[in-house]
This record gives sequence, structure tokens and C-alpha cells, in this order.
Amino acid sequence: MASNAPAASELYSSGFFHPIVEQCEGCERIVEANNNKYCQAYSFPEAKWRLGICNFATHKKPEIVVSTIKINPLKAAKRASGGKKKK
Ligand code: SF4
Repeated sequence: MASNAPAASELYSSGFFHPIVEQCEGCERIVEANNNKYCQAYSFPEAKWRLGICNFATHKKPEIVVSTIKINPLKAAKRASGGKKKK
């Protein structure tokens, strides 16, 4: 039984998929078709980079800054309860 699904090169060159942008270079989701590079996961890669790092990117991850602050549990509980002043 023959499949009616278009070949990958036809699919990517149909105009629905836009070529990747500079920030995508190095990503594992890039596929090449008709001498252009496209994204397997997203049809408009430029939009994925507008607001920061693409959430599908395999080559870049957002930096998470972890700061360690020591909190005295007794003082924190007192502060949370409203803190009673001594008379
Ligand atoms: S997953 Fe994101 S970074 Fe990777 S090719 Fe697609 S749009 Fe570019």
C-alpha cells in the first residue's frame, strides 16, 4: 500500500517551514533539505528565539542561578506569625 505522505524534502520546501536562524546552529533538531536547514520541531525558528532561548534547543540551556541563604527556622516562624514585641 502506497503512502500519500510527502517526502521530507517536499515537506520542508513547501513554504510552511522557515529556515533556521543563527542561534539554532549546533542544535540536534536541524534537518537539511534542498540545501537549506530546517527545524524538525518548529516551523518558524525565528519566533522561538524572540523572547530568549528556544525551549526545544538541545545545544543551549538557560542558566539557573541558585543562591543559598541561611534562614534561622525559629526566627522565620516568628516572623511569619506576626512577631510579638517584648514589653
Ligand atoms: S529546536 Fe529551537 S534551536 Fe533547535 S533548530 Fe529548532 S528552533 Fe532552532
